Amino acid sequence: MAFQMAFNKEELSGAPPVPAGWYTLQFKQFKPKKAANGESVSLNAELSIISPAEYENRRIFVGMNTKMAFMWQDFVHAMGLQMEEVQNENAGTDKADYTLPGVFEGADDPNADPTTWKYLGPMANKTMEVELAEIPASVGADGKSYRAKNEVRQFKCAVAGCTEKHSTNLIKKS
Ligand SMILES: [Zn+2]
Repeated sequence: MAFQMAFNKEELSGAPPVPAGWYTLQFKQFKPKKAANGESVSLNAELSIISPAEYENRRIFVGMNTKMAFMWQDFVHAMGLQMEEVQNENAGTDKADYTLPGVFEGADDPNADPTTWKYLGPMANKTMEVELAEIPASVGADGKSYRAKNEVRQFKCAVAGCTEKHSTNLIKKS
C-alpha cells in the first residue's frame, strides 16, 4: 500500500483554533523539550478537550516553561491538587521550595535529554476548567509567520478554600 502523500488544507496547516471560552480539559502527558537556547525546559503539557462535545479530543498544549514557573501553581490547583514541597534543607520553613506533584523519571540525570523524561504522579488524567483565548495568526518581529492558535488565558482553581492569588490573564503581551 502506498503512503499518503497528498493532504487537504487542514491536514497541512493543523486544525484552526477552537473558539475562545471555557473548556473542560483532561491532562494527557508532558512532552518536555529543551529550549533552543538550552537555558530552560518547556514541559509542554498536552491536554485534550472533554467538553463541549463538539470539540472533543482536540489537543491543547501549555508550554509550562521553567522560566514561567509562576503559572505552575495555577495549573496544579486547576486539578484540585497542591504543589509539592521539595525535601531539601529549606523544607518546613518559609523558604521552602515547591514543585509539581509527582516525579519526572530521568530528570535527575543532568545529561539526559528532557524528551526522555517520563512523568509519573497524581496529575495523570486529571481534568480541569480552563479559559482558552484565540490568538490570531501573525508575523513575528523575526519575520516568521505564526499560525492562529489557542492559548490558556486562565485556569480555574479547584482547591477548596484556596487563598492563593491566581492569574486571570496569562496571555503574553506582545
Ligand atoms: Zn488555588
